Amino acid sequence: MAETTPTLVKRWIALLDAAEHLRQTADPHDPCAMKRVGRAIDSLLRFEHTLTDAQRERARRTLWLRDRLEPLPADTRAWRRCRCRSCLLTRRLGKMPQAASTLPASDDTPGFGSRATITLASD
Ligand SMILES: [Zn+2]
Repeated sequence: MAETTPTLVKRWIALLDAAEHLRQTADPHDPCAMKRVGRAIDSLLRFEHTLTDAQRERARRTLWLRDRLEPLPADTRAWRRCRCRSCLLTRRLGKMPQAASTLPASDDTPGFGSRATITLASD
């Protein structure tokens, strides 16, 4: 990771990696393990909610460059979206008239969806 990566971006990536590791190693039949996965995802989303649109986009861009060999997508505006449940619900209800909320869902959003590992409330 480049040394110019902002601390907030590093923290988001660390929270994502921790949640991903827990999810991958948790026994799905162990309720306590699944609770830990849920808490890790909640922590990630609470933190993500505090980031600005630009910070979220930067975080996903950094993650993409870390984990993928292919070039960045031409349009990464959808990466600005907060994926917390509250913001998802707000967008769904049409109460957040920001430009990013009108973009189509992207399968290329690093962090969620693209790796199809951590799933949130259904879209
Ligand atoms: Zn949010």
